Amino acid sequence: MEKLVRGVKAFQDEEFTEYRGLFQQLALVQTPETLFITCSDSRIDPSLITHSKPGDLFIMRNAGNIVPPYGTSGEGEGATIEYAVAALGVKDIVICGHSRCGAMGGLLHPEHLKSLPAVRAWLGHAESTRRIIQKHYSDLTPEQMLTACVEENVLVQLNHLRTHPEVAARLVTGEIRIHGWLYEIESGEVYAYEPKEAQFVPLADATLDPLVDRARQRRAPRHGGTEPLK
Ligand SMILES: [Zn+2]
Repeated sequence: MEKLVRGVKAFQDEEFTEYRGLFQQLALVQTPETLFITCSDSRIDPSLITHSKPGDLFIMRNAGNIVPPYGTSGEGEGATIEYAVAALGVKDIVICGHSRCGAMGGLLHPEHLKSLPAVRAWLGHAESTRRIIQKHYSDLTPEQMLTACVEENVLVQLNHLRTHPEVAARLVTGEIRIHGWLYEIESGEVYAYEPKEAQFVPLADATLDPLVDRARQRRAPRHGGTEPLK
């Protein structure tokens, strides 16, 4: 704790002084362009790995970077997503998983969670991930299986994200883009899900294509209308 208190003093003397003007602007209004959803794991620092400044990222964190489907028990997550999209007008949502994720390890080994009932219940929102791994990746080594689990979970949670009405409504018109990322703790490398290749590729090689059905963006209503959706 003493380390934290010393850290606050150092922040006030150093960084706050450096960014004083920015903080005074941010005190009046925030206009983050990105909702960044990631794991609570202490080894990930979203602002550090994206070189972001205060005010750039609206961040939601929990064990396993999970997005409960709309209407289920995750009211806190639902409210955070709704606020970011409908009130703040973020343009991009990133779900970022990471290597060596303890939550994903627990998902693969629920027998280790007997004394952690709240964690076990929370990971119910990743049950589809567990089933995908069980059915399609059973021949992998434990380490490979964990990596596959982290990757598949990002895709499962992206699907859950689509169930949130404010997200769904904006995906149709391309007003918002959603992205699946992986952060590798040991190398600092970030990978992005590339829809065209159906796999994660280094972020620098990713096209950043929105994960939306582009045909839908241009679709005219079937019942006589000719204007594309706006
Ligand atoms: Zn994690």
